Amino acid sequence: MRISYSALETYLNCPLKYKFQNIDKIKEPKSKEAVFGTLIHSVMNFIHTPSILSPTLEQAMDYFSRNWNSQVWESELEERAAFSQGVDIIRRYYQKNDIAKANIVSLESHFTLNLKGNIISGIIDRIDKTDEGYEIIDYKTTKKMPSQEKVDNNIQLSLYLKAFLSRYPKEVKNLDKIYVSLYYLKHGVKLTSQRTLKNLEELDNLFLDIIKKIEKGYFQPNVSPLCDWCGYQKYCPMWKHKFKEERKIDSQEINQAIIQYIEKKSEITKIKFLLASLQEKISRYMDQEGVERVFSEEGIITRTIKKTYKYDEEKIRKILEPLRKWNDVLKFDEMALKNILETFPPKIQEKIEMAKKIDKESKTFNVKKK
Ligand code: SF4
Repeated sequence: MRISYSALETYLNCPLKYKFQNIDKIKEPKSKEAVFGTLIHSVMNFIHTPSILSPTLEQAMDYFSRNWNSQVWESELEERAAFSQGVDIIRRYYQKNDIAKANIVSLESHFTLNLKGNIISGIIDRIDKTDEGYEIIDYKTTKKMPSQEKVDNNIQLSLYLKAFLSRYPKEVKNLDKIYVSLYYLKHGVKLTSQRTLKNLEELDNLFLDIIKKIEKGYFQPNVSPLCDWCGYQKYCPMWKHKFKEERKIDSQEINQAIIQYIEKKSEITKIKFLLASLQEKISRYMDQEGVERVFSEEGIITRTIKKTYKYDEEKIRKILEPLRKWNDVLKFDEMALKNILETFPPKIQEKIEMAKKIDKESKTFNVKKK
């Protein structure tokens, strides 16, 4: 199979979106965020393309405004805000970086990696030569910054490092001198990490696992905050109803039922909060008065203390083992299985997955209020 890193990432975020994009080949309109991100990447390239004199801040700003696309913005206000964000990014970048001193090895370099016959391709934004080794950098134009832990486990950076090592195999012994970084341009912050050989080997299994799922046709939707930027909502079963033409003429009864359900659900939530705070107040009063029952014209409230008990496993084992009854009370622990599932080789994980069967099926409604 041939697959790009961005397609793999799409699958990880939402398998159904991957299907719409790569199998059904439905064209997704480019979002304004993607257009903005592409331009900022291109500005970074312009700034660092080797030449006798590095571009000045004014030249970088000029490049940015000459390539600005006005078409994608919904209003003048929105466009102005985005443009000034771009200006801020470039200005901050010049403040924090000495452009002439960057020792760039490559910009936007394409790579392909052979993973057991599967070809993974991608583009590395930038590779620098540092005093001690190398730094692989990926620019980000998103607002949300990840924790250091997430950067340490970021699979994109690991893949880029693998691609780098396939180009410079001798560097594998200098892994401690190679850094991988995500540069969050909106914040002007670079988050840096390193990888071990073991990290890189684990990555192969993850990618092979995804490829296997794609080949088997697992394309379930994954509703997440990323849906807000997904261009396939119209086709997606989780969002389709929002766009249904006939919705306007859906029976009055069903529209009313949906509205009422959402209203009542939020009333229940409010009531739950109110009850919890009233209970706390009354309980405090009972403690203070040393009573377990309180009286009013409306009725009586009685406080009862419920105790739940748990057997001491070790003590029970000592009692039951001599009677040969211990194995009779041991039960299969699903939670424990889930916790260790990822430590098994992919083949075993797959077998365990296949051994699942539907026990009970229930339908729940989750409400997201506008
Ligand atoms: S709308 Fe959300 S769930 Fe549906 S395809 Fe897009 S990302 Fe997936």
